[in-house]
Amino acid sequence: MKAEIIIIGDEILYGLTLDTNSAFIAEKLGELGIEISYKTAIGDEVKKIVEAIHSAQRRVDLVIVTGGLGPTSDDLTVKAIAKAFKKNLIFHPEILKKIEARFKTRGIEMPKINQNQALIPQGAKALENQLGSAPGILIEEDKKIFIALPGVPKEMKAMLEQEVIPLLKTKVGKTKIVHRKLRTTGIIESKLYEKIQDLLKDLKEIKVAFLPSYLGVDLRLTANLKTSSKSKDVITQLEDKIKERIGGFIYSYDEQTLEEVVGRILKENKRTLSVAESCTGGLVAAKITNISGSSDYFERGVVSYSNQAKMEILGVPKELLDKFGAVSQEVALAMAQGVRKISKTDLGLSVTGIAGPTGGTPEKPVGLIYIALADVNKGWVEKFIFGQDRMINRERTAQAALNIVRLYFLGKYK
Ligand code: ATP
Ligand code: MG
Repeated sequence: MKAEIIIIGDEILYGLTLDTNSAFIAEKLGELGIEISYKTAIGDEVKKIVEAIHSAQRRVDLVIVTGGLGPTSDDLTVKAIAKAFKKNLIFHPEILKKIEARFKTRGIEMPKINQNQALIPQGAKALENQLGSAPGILIEEDKKIFIALPGVPKEMKAMLEQEVIPLLKTKVGKTKIVHRKLRTTGIIESKLYEKIQDLLKDLKEIKVAFLPSYLGVDLRLTANLKTSSKSKDVITQLEDKIKERIGGFIYSYDEQTLEEVVGRILKENKRTLSVAESCTGGLVAAKITNISGSSDYFERGVVSYSNQAKMEILGVPKELLDKFGAVSQEVALAMAQGVRKISKTDLGLSVTGIAGPTGGTPEKPVGLIYIALADVNKGWVEKFIFGQDRMINRERTAQAALNIVRLYFLGKYK
């Protein structure tokens, strides 16, 4: 099966919105073994959308469109689809009821223009949108599949996963392709490569991709053998060998984030955590509390940005701040111990550093970060030197801090 993705919206063409939808769709289709032949981006103009749909219908078996399903005058996709397929738009009262109900639960009166979203081309099927008002559209004709999804990434993703992928699975049959992701953090790409280089030599049946980001390096293994169980077998064999080499750096084997993994570990071990943050300004706590159920293990987060806050809230001794400065091993440790003590948790985690781009000195350059962890008995500090970019430094620091908690439970700190 060959596919084309059509992205609709002036804002994408002008570069005001980064098109992430097509990347997500391409990845998901790839997992099913569906080849993406074309990606097209077009503006909010009916004539051009119709042309794009027509040429896509000619050259591929599956067309997925995103964007322009909303109720406003710049949302023209439904109109264009009707025109392209020469269908009338039919009003569906049951769809309107769902849209009205959505507004009602939010306590908002439904604006009249949302009635438009209950219009679907004749013969098309509406795909349910759990997160927004615009339904998706599915048209199956002449053995070809046409799907339109909302532009809002969250809505598009949910609909793709809940409605589209299950449908496509029934069409493409059993896929032989098997992917596995090993997510690592705390090791740079080239070092990782060095450690497993020889395992990757002469690999005929598996493709290995290195996917670095400032949170770590993901390894994606892909096998496409005669059957899916053969693909699985070769992947598992390689995975086991990789694990032997770099096991400690791997924090998850699928799409799980580090904060999810750390949350699960804390829960399983029935331990609680509190956090004191300086340069990350609450990012570590925000990540931890992104996870539903985090109240089971997360007690509090303190943003102690000033020296005053470090002394008043966390009880960091003034002498330490005077002698070593706020960005120091000693203060990091006192922060971790302090937050643990006031919140009566099993573990206290702290970060202090120079996020930049200003504020660096020759002794304490921008990117210098200390992260400390304390339990009832002891404390440990790690030093990092990240880069010049403030936002990236904050993200990397939060990731490194979470990783220290993970490593604690792996027995690195005793
Ligand atoms: P709405 O009902 O919100 O109008 P829609 O289906 O009409 O949804 P658009 O109006 O095209 O979708 O886009 C809504 C928002 O979704 C855009 O402002 C943009 O932020 C985001 N968006 C649209 N297309 C993409 C894309 N290809 N990649 C990432 N984000 C996108
Ligand atoms: Mg819109």
